[in-house]
This record gives sequence, C-alpha cells and structure tokens, in this order.
Amino acid sequence: MNTEHEFAAEIQRREQAEEQQRMDFKFAREEVSIDPSSPHRMTDVAAVRTFVLAGNARFTLRSKATGTRFTFKVRQPSDTKPHFVSLLNGSSNEEDYQFLGTIFKDGAYRRGQRSHITDDAPSAKAFDWFWKRVVAGKLSEQLEVWHEGRCCRCGRTLTVPESIASGIGPECAKRMQS
Ligand SMILES: [Zn+2]
Repeated sequence: MNTEHEFAAEIQRREQAEEQQRMDFKFAREEVSIDPSSPHRMTDVAAVRTFVLAGNARFTLRSKATGTRFTFKVRQPSDTKPHFVSLLNGSSNEEDYQFLGTIFKDGAYRRGQRSHITDDAPSAKAFDWFWKRVVAGKLSEQLEVWHEGRCCRCGRTLTVPESIASGIGPECAKRMQS
C-alpha cells in the first residue's frame, strides 16, 4: 500500500469537507503569501523531533499540495510519563484538543484505544505518517511543519500557517482594514 498516495487522497477529501471553513480564511489567504523561510516553519528533522518532544508543543502539519492542515498538541505531564498526542478539534486553539495517541519512551507512537478518533481518520493518518518520517529522520517536502504564532493585535495563539506567517489572525486583519 502506498501510504503517501493514500494520505494525499484522504487529505483531498478532507479539503472538500473543509471548503466552508477555508472560505473563512479567504481574506487572509488573499492578502498573505506564505514565506517558505518563515522562522515558524520547521524544516530540520532533528529540530522537529526536539520540538515535538519538548513537553508542551503545539504545531500544525500542512500539505503543500492541498493546503489541508491539522493542528496537534504533544504534552508530557512529567519526566516519567510518556508523551500524549491530541488533535485540535474545535474553535478554540487553546482549549479544544481531543486525545489521539501516545508516543512511548522508545519513540514508538500508537493511537490510543480510548481515542474517539479512528485509525482511518485523515488526522490520525497524518500524524502517524508524520511521526514515522520523523523517526526515520527524513521529513517529506510535501508536508510542512509549523509551530504556533501569536497575533500581534490581540495576542491569541495562531495555528493557521497563513496567519502564523503574517503574525495576525483573520479577524484582526479584517479590523485593521476597516
Ligand atoms: Zn488577533
């Protein structure tokens, strides 16, 4: 099975479902072209691994081809505990995270038995695929890794790459224009 193609097909389907949501960000998209050298975009696999396992990481994976993205939080409650992976699944990028799986001490990742997100969900596949790449020491050019930003106007956390790159959220960008 070609995981890369499977992932691409899944994220394309997801993209159609997200059409409405993406329309909300149309303003920001039109105004901002993403700088590929943005300091918020991580391209070094060792740096990505360190970042993800630092204990309280939030980051967004974005498909270069489709613009589809998922935001994850990876938290280690204490040094003796494993890392817990959760998925942003709601309107608040501070609060609305849902348990997805666990990264164990040996670096292996497994989706949680009690996660409500199924193995075949695009988000679950995306993280699994991403982490396998990190463990293998080779990121895909097709998958961008962005760590969170902060809105320069209201101070809120930014998780959408277009907003991270510009440093301002879509609502605040609209207000600045009017
Ligand atoms: Zn703002």
